[in-house]
Amino acid sequence: MFVFCASAFEPTCDCACEDLDRDRLGQSTWYLLHEIAKHVPTTKESHFKNFMYSLSHLYPCETCRKHIGDYILENNIELNKQWLCDFHNDVNVRLGKASFDCSTL
Ligand SMILES: Cc1cc2nc3c(=O)[nH]c(=O)nc-3n(C[C@H](O)[C@H](O)[C@H](O)COP(=O)(O)OP(=O)(O)OC[C@H]3O[C@@H](n4cnc5c(N)ncnc54)[C@H](O)[C@@H]3O)c2cc1C
Repeated sequence: MFVFCASAFEPTCDCACEDLDRDRLGQSTWYLLHEIAKHVPTTKESHFKNFMYSLSHLYPCETCRKHIGDYILENNIELNKQWLCDFHNDVNVRLGKASFDCSTL
């Protein structure tokens, strides 16, 4: 179960926080992000940008949050499947995982 570790819902946990199910949180967040990229029209891109900026402040894992912030600073946010796939692959590679074949999306 997802639990905030700090009081007053302050998301201060790093990835090492024992109460944070980092994998479940990551899988759920990626699911949401990929579904947004798949189903939401590009006319909503400004909202998606705000959402990603917010995530870079609110994601409850400090290391992940920093990487989200770094990535969106260096890569202009776009609301499409390719952008999301590339972002997810950047995290995959950083974690030593295989890259996903974005052409299968
Ligand atoms: C924005 C963000 C940043 C993160 N940063 C970190 C971090 O810095 N350190 C850390 O330890 N963890 C981080 N995580 C968590 C990490 O990415 C994984 O979610 C977690 O390690 C569990 O990995 P998993 O192998 O179960 O699959 P996940 O990476 O969670 O992927 C879920 C499923 O998505 C599919 N998939 C994989 N790659 C792609 C792709 N490129 N495009 C489309 N579908 C794909 C696969 O079917 C996979 O099973 C982050 C998560 C998010 C959402």
